[in-house]
Amino acid sequence: MNLSGLRSATSAFPRTARMPALFIGHGHPMNALWDNDFTRTLRQIGQSLEKPNAILVISAHWQTHGTVVSTSKLPETIYDFGNFDPELFKITYPAPGAPAYAELLRETVTLTPVHAFEHMGLDHGAWTVLKFIFPHADVPVFQLSLDYDRPAAWHYALAQELKPLRERGVLIMGSGNIVHNLRILDWHNIDAPTADWATEYDAFVKARLLDADHKPLIQYETVSQAARLSVPSNEHYLPMLYTAALQAPGEELRFMYEGFQFANISMRAFRVG
Ligand code: ZN
Repeated sequence: MNLSGLRSATSAFPRTARMPALFIGHGHPMNALWDNDFTRTLRQIGQSLEKPNAILVISAHWQTHGTVVSTSKLPETIYDFGNFDPELFKITYPAPGAPAYAELLRETVTLTPVHAFEHMGLDHGAWTVLKFIFPHADVPVFQLSLDYDRPAAWHYALAQELKPLRERGVLIMGSGNIVHNLRILDWHNIDAPTADWATEYDAFVKARLLDADHKPLIQYETVSQAARLSVPSNEHYLPMLYTAALQAPGEELRFMYEGFQFANISMRAFRVG
């Protein structure tokens, strides 16, 4: 799209103060039912935020070939996990969708065509955390998929193109986990001791984020054995890169939560702006 076309698209959306961007480590879906220090922190995050016009979620749990944005008017709550407590399947998160903002995103992104899909609901990377952050489900929510076929550097570049949405009242939230290796954890003990490689890579990411030194985060596969163990597949890691990429020069980044569950799942959460 040329510049005049972009102007006409964005002019329908009044400029706002720049909204923060969040990264939330979502971990086990059962957190949606639990009252613990992590979920209490999510509630506090919500209380600290101005109410956005819309929320854009980039979740580990929506991967596609190509890039897709959800345009549903009333996204369903999706139970995209195993056979956990039946109470989990009774939770609904009835926030409306945000098709107009999805259209704005399609017109803003130039790196790749963004396909519209109106039948996408809210996956558990979105609703299990939003139910604490915005418990009234009164802010429209839409999701952007992760393209399986693209490298981390490409995702980082795409995320940078989303920056203008922050100035149209859109709160952008990455939802994944910085350290997430489902083969090396302890599902039976939420407080199981954390392995050294997991602590090491989580601390490495924290330090790079504080320095706004994102290149080693993008090139994580070459950094260390700890990185490779922490990110055996990158769908939970990429949402963190999206939030990092949204940071403006000199903009503050604050950690909202740090800690591990089930030995080696990093629940680290941070806020940009
Ligand atoms: Zn997950």
